[in-house]
Amino acid sequence: MCAGNMKTIETRAAMQADTQRAVGEGRCVVLVPTMGYLHEGHLSLIRLARTEANAHVVVSLFVNPTQFGPGEDFGRYPRNMDRDQRVCVEEKVDVLFCPAAEEMYASDHSVYLQEEKVSASLEGKHRPGHFSGVLTVVAKLFLAVQPTVAVFGQKDAQQLWLIRKMVRDLNFPVCIHAGPTVREPDGLALSSRNIYLEGGLREQAAGLSRALRHAVTLHGEGEKKSAVLRQAAIDSLQGFPDLQLDYIEIVDEETFAPVPLTHGRCRILIAARVGTTRLIDNMELVEGGGVHGATPDFFPTSCTCSGSQ
Ligand code: AMP
Repeated sequence: MCAGNMKTIETRAAMQADTQRAVGEGRCVVLVPTMGYLHEGHLSLIRLARTEANAHVVVSLFVNPTQFGPGEDFGRYPRNMDRDQRVCVEEKVDVLFCPAAEEMYASDHSVYLQEEKVSASLEGKHRPGHFSGVLTVVAKLFLAVQPTVAVFGQKDAQQLWLIRKMVRDLNFPVCIHAGPTVREPDGLALSSRNIYLEGGLREQAAGLSRALRHAVTLHGEGEKKSAVLRQAAIDSLQGFPDLQLDYIEIVDEETFAPVPLTHGRCRILIAARVGTTRLIDNMELVEGGGVHGATPDFFPTSCTCSGSQ
């Protein structure tokens, strides 16, 4: 199916054929995996993908059932295929890959990818099986699309770290690039789930990024103790009746292990329920204040597209 010059592809076979044709024409296939209900955060990744030399941009849109736990919001996760398709045409996406669940998973599928260290902590601790579902579907998308480059958001920092680790450990011939978190003017990180935030919840949700910002400022003033930084962030969340904290943690960017004292490159992460909506956010803690910019890839892989890292 074609809308403008954009193709909409629903099968793995057609997707692989399209990639082979594009590669034959000297294009660099750049994948932006999403679960749809696109917002400016996704669009920033699509625009980043487009900066690759000779980019052939593939956006995948797949609400992956295996990364949702029982009782999570898979059934009510926001979906709007028509709007997403229009947005992708406007962004000059080359291919929208939107397979049905049956195209991605056999009805009796029983093989999953499992990372054995970092995926049990933080998000993984609060969402058992989540990262196994994420890594499994990202690997499947890599096999279906066969991109040279794939672009992910720093918004999901632990996910980004685990995907880079998977690519390195399993020797996927894919180069991972990361885009910074796009925020609302009041600091709230854009998320498809923000649509759930009604009334006063929306304002309380902005408290998450304010709490992180508070810790970042304190860190910039010289505070290095994680316990002090975390407590300052927690204190700034007092008086938000509908906000229930899951965790605030400071990790080393390279190992993703919690650190008692900040050093080099660290990241502060937060997860909380605001009403019934679970939100996550994170910010980097830079030695001496300021911003480093791009998240470092501690597991770099070789990449054959010109202009790639
Ligand atoms: P999702 O559709 O939520 O699975 O996200 C698809 C991709 O967009 C992931 O790589 C996310 O990290 C990224 N993403 C989500 N929200 C943002 C945001 N606010 N800014 C930048 N990237 C984002």
